[in-house]
Amino acid sequence: LKIGDRILLVDGVSVSFDGFKALNNLSFSINYGELRCIIGANGAGKSTMMDVVTGKTKPDEGQVVFGEAVDLLSMDEPSIAQIGIGRKFQKPTVFANHTVFENLELAMKDDKRFFKTLFSRLSSEQKDKIEDTMKLIGLKELYNQQAGILSHGQKQWLEIGMLIMQEPKLLLVDEPVAGMTPQEVEKTAEILTSLSKENAVVVVEHDMEFIRSIAKKVTVLHEGAVLAEGSMDAIQNNEKVRKVYLGE
Ligand code: ADP
Ligand code: MG
Repeated sequence: LKIGDRILLVDGVSVSFDGFKALNNLSFSINYGELRCIIGANGAGKSTMMDVVTGKTKPDEGQVVFGEAVDLLSMDEPSIAQIGIGRKFQKPTVFANHTVFENLELAMKDDKRFFKTLFSRLSSEQKDKIEDTMKLIGLKELYNQQAGILSHGQKQWLEIGMLIMQEPKLLLVDEPVAGMTPQEVEKTAEILTSLSKENAVVVVEHDMEFIRSIAKKVTVLHEGAVLAEGSMDAIQNNEKVRKVYLGE
């Protein structure tokens, strides 16, 4: 995959729950190296979209393609995670009684952990990966701190770090800055921006300041479909968006 190549295609996807269309002919795509924000009111279908991409929910129709030709709809959830799609849920779930370093170590891919089990130590490559990740998430100095006593923001970053240890190519992140201080929000924007340079990152978020600070391209979901797509300025001036949200 090169920067700018399409990494995810969601095409004509519909999902019904008891006749109600949570996704209604949803289509969009994401490129490698991109940081995309997905916004939309409660119930717009954001979480359902992530469920479809990660294999938790299978749609009634449409196609979902990873990279050039990997049909995600024919794969189960663990296989989708294995090929490089990572998801971070809203609530951080770190191992409270383990240190920052240990949390990252525990999050390593299975095949990497095997080496550790076999030789009772990490390879230098694995150590470097953990060090680099700690640097990226700003927790290098706290490497020996128990995760349970980290701040809310630090726990979120650690969990992003744990996701990175899985070496995903596409990361789906659900409301990362909810409950964060303004400083933490700023740091999170930095982390996700830097992460998106060698991955693709899709962020669902309500915090408009945050979105403005990071997003090059924003996708607005409404009633299970794309209402508008473009820069934050273009979105705010979009007629359809103004009609739905401002009643103009
Ligand atoms: P968002 O994340 O944008 O708030 P969701 O994707 O969670 O929206 O939900 C979209 C719509 O689908 C909502 O009306 C929600 O109530 C409905 N929905 C989501 N999951 C289910 C489910 N498992 N069963 C029934 N309805 C669901
Ligand atoms: Mg949701």
